[in-house]
Amino acid sequence: MRIVRTKAELHEELEPERRAGRTIGLVPTMGHLHEGHLSLVRAARERCEIVVLSVFVNPTQFGPGEDLESYPRDLERDARLAEPEGVDLLYAPAVGEVYPDGFQSAVVVEDLSEVLCGDPRNRGPEHFRGVATVVAKLFNSVGPDVAFFGQKDAQQAIVIRRMVRDLDFPIEVEVLPTVREADGLALSSRNAYLEPDERTRAPALSRALDAARARAEAGDANLGEVLRAARAVLAESGVEPEYLEARDASDLSPIESFNGRPVLVAVAATLGSARLIDNVVIEPQSGRNEPAEGG
Ligand code: AMP
Repeated sequence: MRIVRTKAELHEELEPERRAGRTIGLVPTMGHLHEGHLSLVRAARERCEIVVLSVFVNPTQFGPGEDLESYPRDLERDARLAEPEGVDLLYAPAVGEVYPDGFQSAVVVEDLSEVLCGDPRNRGPEHFRGVATVVAKLFNSVGPDVAFFGQKDAQQAIVIRRMVRDLDFPIEVEVLPTVREADGLALSSRNAYLEPDERTRAPALSRALDAARARAEAGDANLGEVLRAARAVLAESGVEPEYLEARDASDLSPIESFNGRPVLVAVAATLGSARLIDNVVIEPQSGRNEPAEGG
């Protein structure tokens, strides 16, 4: 595994591979690697001949007062975890390599960036502007055939898919399932911030989503009841959600009832200094959930 810091080095390493017709997979991360990230690396290793892992804590996706300064960074540890998984190139650019002086361009995926985490009352749309911009830049710098993302950040994956479609990136986006702790808590670099009592309460997010899915799969519940079941689980653990919402799982459009399409139930909550997110996709229950108005 080689560690490279600049676009020039990346180019030097990848150009011969591209010319030889080898497929390139990219796994973009902010580092502090865990099994969630490594599951993406393994998927890339299986599918692609060359695996590039990027580690970059992207300042433009952090809002004022968020955890940019305290975000855990340890490139040596990341390299130790990445190498045995068969990563070929670890790309870890400095901020100035990604955002040179005078940088003033951005990629904005309009509506998809303004709901859920992108709602101005939550992280806000600037978060996804930062994400889309840095991912577009990584796509241009690496030129992957396939890029791998986690379902844990469902809205991010939807924003990236739309950007790829809208801007004609010749890249396939693959989204892999959320990797969880034994008690259901979705793995996240931010779990490191949880104090012991918060760590005990944190699995309430996934338990709430499980309750929502169970209520939906029972077949007789409407969407309001499904969300109430989830809220009750959060309340039992004293977790106040920033949001808990059901939306169309493919385009995040608002929904009032089950309508025969997959439904994304997404939750965000802050416990101490850790802002946690999680989600579940509820597949249509072969006609057993409430039908849409008029069929
Ligand atoms: P991050 O380093 O948090 O920006 O995440 C980098 C990539 O890893 C994103 O595509 C995330 O969706 C994915 N990821 C983070 N946590 C998990 C998890 N628990 N399971 C699966 N993928 C994850």
